[in-house]
Amino acid sequence: MPLRIGFDMDGVLADFAAAYHEIETRLVGPSTPSTRAGNPEEEASEESEDEETARTRAKAEEEARKTEDAARQAEGGRRKKEVRPSEHRRRRDLVWQAIQETPDFWTTLKPLDPTAVGRIHEMMVRHRWEVFFITQRPATDGDTVQRQTQRWLVEQGFDLPSVLVIAGSRGAAAGALRLDYHVDDNAKNCIDIKSESGAKPLLIVDPSDDMTAISARRLGIGTATTIDECLTILEQASVNRAQPNLLHRLAKLVGWH
Ligand SMILES: [Mg+2]
Repeated sequence: MPLRIGFDMDGVLADFAAAYHEIETRLVGPSTPSTRAGNPEEEASEESEDEETARTRAKAEEEARKTEDAARQAEGGRRKKEVRPSEHRRRRDLVWQAIQETPDFWTTLKPLDPTAVGRIHEMMVRHRWEVFFITQRPATDGDTVQRQTQRWLVEQGFDLPSVLVIAGSRGAAAGALRLDYHVDDNAKNCIDIKSESGAKPLLIVDPSDDMTAISARRLGIGTATTIDECLTILEQASVNRAQPNLLHRLAKLVGWH
């Protein structure tokens, strides 16, 4: 059986955060350190949330805003420059609206590592992997998310990409696809995959974020700091798949258990 490997798109292969901040700066001014790029996965799940959940979330956000206001007053307004949750939400909604109105937005992203997709393609052919690109990107004007993502991957050097646009649990998808490995930059997705499928998740963590790396490894989730490092790990897993001792040593090094 060939190894079956899943790759998340944004934050793993495509630089969504850069495009998001570019739009944010154009529309509402530069972001402060307290704002971060929206996450296509969270946005997609909020899009599909029912009224009840939306109300609960809005209420929680309002509560958080009040708490922040009270804290700010207590501090004599020293934290004036930070963006309030409601302001953050407003900025985020404006950016997402612009994204959704940009025809074929998902084809316009820059790669995080311009060699990564080509390298996945080369390794897929050499090691006879079966590769799936999995994403929860919300729809935009233009082509479907699936076709936009396929076109982007082809342009990056991957002919015939299998792109799956899924809502909901990544673990269930990884289980149904019988993935052996999955690469993601989102810890929650990795936890999902670890608990709901037999796949080994590999989380890309910022080199400065020791806390996330430590807690991921505690849960048996493998970690690496770049997509390039992930591919080197997957290559070793592929080459050594018939040698339990070497695989065991690799698992220990990566954090899988
Ligand atoms: Mg991602």
